[in-house]
Formats: sequence, C-alpha cells, structure tokens
Amino acid sequence: MIIFKSINKLNKYLENIDNIGFVPTMGSIHSGHGSLIKKSKKICKKTLVSIFVNPKQFNNKKDFINYPRNIKKDIRILRKLKVDYVLFPKYSDVYGAKENKLIKIPKINKILCAKYRPGHFEGVLRVINQYLIKINFQKIFLGEKDYQQLKIISNFVRKRFSVKIVACKTIRHENTFALSSRNQLLIKEDLYKLREIFLILKSFKLRLKKNFKYKYKISDVKNLIRKMGVKLEYLELRDKHTLSKYCNKSNFKIFISYYYKKIRFIDNI
Ligand code: AMP
Repeated sequence: MIIFKSINKLNKYLENIDNIGFVPTMGSIHSGHGSLIKKSKKICKKTLVSIFVNPKQFNNKKDFINYPRNIKKDIRILRKLKVDYVLFPKYSDVYGAKENKLIKIPKINKILCAKYRPGHFEGVLRVINQYLIKINFQKIFLGEKDYQQLKIISNFVRKRFSVKIVACKTIRHENTFALSSRNQLLIKEDLYKLREIFLILKSFKLRLKKNFKYKYKISDVKNLIRKMGVKLEYLELRDKHTLSKYCNKSNFKIFISYYYKKIRFIDNI
C-alpha cells in the first residue's frame, strides 16, 4: 500500500494505469467503508482510498472539530484490506486558489440534509470535482447510507465526466442502524438507542408496505422518536429515484436525521 500526501505525487503513479476504483472518505474507517473498498477490489485493477475531513461540508465548527479522526488505525485497516493507494490530500489540493469556485446545487435539491445543512453539498461537490478533474480513476464507489449525497454526486458526474458511479448498499450494525464514523463518538450503551430508533422506522416501513395510508400517521412516529430523547431534524417519505415527496407504496424510502448527544445521525430505509 502506497500512501500519498499530495494529488500531484499520486498522479505520477496513476498515469499509466487504467481501471482504477476510487473510494473517497472522511476517514475513521469502518466496515461500511470496507464494503465499498471490497467491491472496488473485486471489479477494478487498483483501488484508491482518499481520507479528507472536508471543513466546507460542516456547517458547524464544533462538529468539524469533534469529527473522529484515527489516522494510524485507518492506515492499519486499509493495509489489512489490501488497498493499493491511500491519498491524504493537502488542503490546497482541494481548495487551490484557481479552482476556488463555489459549485451550486440545483434548487430542487434543497431538501432533506441540504435544507438543514446549508452549504454542505456544495462543499461535498467541490471536493469531488477536484478529485474528478485532477485524478485518473474510472469508477467511484459511494454508499447508499448517504443517499441524497449519492444522488447529487451522480447527477453532477453524469453531466460532466465519463466516470462510472457504483452505488453500494448500506452496511448496518447487526441488521439495525447504519454504521457511521460518528458511532465512534458514542459508548456501547448508547447504541441501543440508535437500534430502537431503527426498529421504529423498520416497523413504520412494514406498515406502509401493507397500507400506504399509514403515511398519515407520520406525526405519531415522529413523536415516538422524540420520546426516545433525541432531537429529530427530519423524518420524511420520498420517492427513492427522484427524492420527490410524491411517492407511493412501491417507490418510497424513509429518510431520517436526528441528533443524539449532540451528534448528528442520518439513515434511510
Ligand atoms: P464518509 O467517510 O462518512 O464520508 O463516507 C465515505 C463513503 O462511505 C460514502 O460514500 C458513504 O456513503 C460510505 N459509507 C459510510 N457509511 C456507510 C455504511 N454504513 N454503509 C455503506 N456505505 C457507507
């Protein structure tokens, strides 16, 4: 495994290799990231993982500072997974003066996380855009855990680049809540709370599958979740293809965002 601390150095290496799979991350590597890496290793000749905690996608400085960082542990895990290249881009690699343009996301996307985290997806796209412009890779692996992000990046890439997006299923803790780097900020006893919230969502989903009119009960479900002592940011049903709120029994997904112990979690089922 070769570690690069700048995009320029990495590029010299990748120049003559085709079929490179790229897994961009913010580090604190867990099995969710691991599944993307394994998929890339399966279908690509070489796998590149980047680790960059992007300040511009946090709309709260405290959240950025508290975001878990475990570089040594990450390197150990990535080595074990037999990743070929790891990139720790420099801040200037991503936010160089010339490319310091703000990328706007279409108004239609100002829903869900975009509504509650102004500037978040613009920050995500700025980094992804730089990677796409500067690094030679053919496939990019993204998790469904960040479903809206997956949709926004897919639309962005499709219009401008020939890179193929590979969407990867959400990896869950014992078939319950989605694994997340932020889980590392919790103690073991807290996990049962995340599990309970997931079970409420799961049962809501099953009822909706049987009878979609159950959607009118969404405020009851919200209250149930609030009673768990979490701060609910949103709980919404949306079309899984378009993210439109006009959805039906066969195409809906449930999207949730909440704060527990001041830590923000998202999931979709
Ligand atoms: P992050 O480091 O949180 O920015 O995530 C990097 C990539 O891993 C993104 O494409 C995420 O959607 C994906 N990812 C994070 N958690 C999971 C998970 N539990 N299952 C599948 N993919 C995930």
